[in-house]
Amino acid sequence: MIEEKRKTISSGLQPLWDLTSEIVLIVDRDGIVLERNSAAERYLPSGLFASFADIVLEHDLILQAIQQAAEQGHPTRVDSLTTKTKGHLSSLLSVQLSPLVLPEDSSDCFLAVLSYESKELHSLEKVARMNEERVEKLRNQLNFVTRELIEKTLKVAEQKNKLDAIIDGMGDGLVAGDESGRIIQYNKTAQSLLLFPEEDVSGQLFTELNPAIAAAIHLDPKNPAAISKQEVNVSFDRKELRVCASPIFDQEKHHFGFVLILQDRTKQAEVDRMKSELISIVSHELRSPLTSIKGYVDLMMTGDLGDVPESMRSYLSIVSSNAGKLAALIDDMLDLSRIESGKLIMSFGKVDIKYLCDYVYLTIKPQAEQKKQQFSLDVDPNVVVSGDVDRLLQVLTNLVSNAIKYTPNGGSIAITAGSRNGKVYIAVKDTGIGISAADRERLFQKFFRVKNDKTANIGGTGLGLCIAESIIKAHNGKILVESEENQGSVFTIELPAFHQ
Ligand code: ADP
Repeated sequence: MIEEKRKTISSGLQPLWDLTSEIVLIVDRDGIVLERNSAAERYLPSGLFASFADIVLEHDLILQAIQQAAEQGHPTRVDSLTTKTKGHLSSLLSVQLSPLVLPEDSSDCFLAVLSYESKELHSLEKVARMNEERVEKLRNQLNFVTRELIEKTLKVAEQKNKLDAIIDGMGDGLVAGDESGRIIQYNKTAQSLLLFPEEDVSGQLFTELNPAIAAAIHLDPKNPAAISKQEVNVSFDRKELRVCASPIFDQEKHHFGFVLILQDRTKQAEVDRMKSELISIVSHELRSPLTSIKGYVDLMMTGDLGDVPESMRSYLSIVSSNAGKLAALIDDMLDLSRIESGKLIMSFGKVDIKYLCDYVYLTIKPQAEQKKQQFSLDVDPNVVVSGDVDRLLQVLTNLVSNAIKYTPNGGSIAITAGSRNGKVYIAVKDTGIGISAADRERLFQKFFRVKNDKTANIGGTGLGLCIAESIIKAHNGKILVESEENQGSVFTIELPAFHQ
């Protein structure tokens, strides 16, 4: 019976299936090989009428697949079967089973096409496929990152170009250096002001390129980033430069370099010098005749030169008071021009603060009394400083007369002095009109006067505090101001304590 089937089938199919390189078998419902092609003869050691159980370990699965193919009438496939074939132990086998339509007893025969899948090949392919997918993903990510990077680089380049253009267009010179003192950025103005050579000086040491400025700003060649924030005037190659130096900090607030802004003040300095000279000459020329005018007027008022009628006395007193004001203004202007030209000469000595305060208190007391102000003095008697007594008197007189001037009638003024935190202080406190925060900022500028309804009728030049500050600075001290509008002000002079 089997033999008959075999003959029937092989006669029809033999020429065809020998052409294929796949292993092709005809099996019956029990998986018995009825016929095979030449590839099967070559690769399968088991012969005709062998069972599938001789070919694969999972014989049961084949029988199930045959059953399924028979029931459904279309091909079924079983993958990853383990071969029993020697030499192919590590191989996997796929079998495709299709029911054959034959003239007789068709439901009993199946065409089995076997194909080997190498385990290694399979896993390698899998790995390769996974790798390919990974590579593809990576390529996509890389493309994305590259695109972003290009865009960012372009943006940064655009910003840098803009920044370079701004820096180059600046009227002031700019030089930036790194922590080793080497130049990392500079603009054209700096190049021409500092006489840098034509070629690019980036990377060169600033201390070597411009020792004069480096010395003026105390740029330490061993630690250039430790530079302090400062503004200094430097004369350099017949130029007068204002140099603003400051350290540069990184995000962790570490110094990593320095930046210098250079302003050419040559013309301004020349104008200032001429102005000071003019003021000095004019003031001197005015001062002498004014002194004699005031002297004679005062003499006339004494009556020593003859009787002065009462009607004339009041005019003389106006002339004397205005001559006094004019003399005070001229004195201020002379002081200012001396300070600005560095010609304010001071003679330092031991100054007793109690003497200083008593003197000013007694001199000015009449002014406070005239305005019915309470005027008090509270001074530690054992405090001395090193200073120019006349200049310190001038400063304290200015602060106390301001306190009286800018405090309405009936207010109170207090002078206190002593030492605290290793410093000597003299404080002048008033209950006057006070000064707004915005005005406090400009208080020590020359000719600055607060302009409002309360100050409109109070005379002054706006020079007193400017001069006072310069004098106190020359004593290595400072003037501090606390004030609240309509409440009053406290001006405090702070000076270094005297050491024998
Ligand atoms: P001035 O000759 O105008 O008094 P100062 O330089 O001494 O010049 O003072 C500058 C300005 O500061 C004054 O015009 C005034 O507006 C303000 N000022 C100074 N001291 C006081 C004070 N104690 N209270 C209120 N304002 C003051």
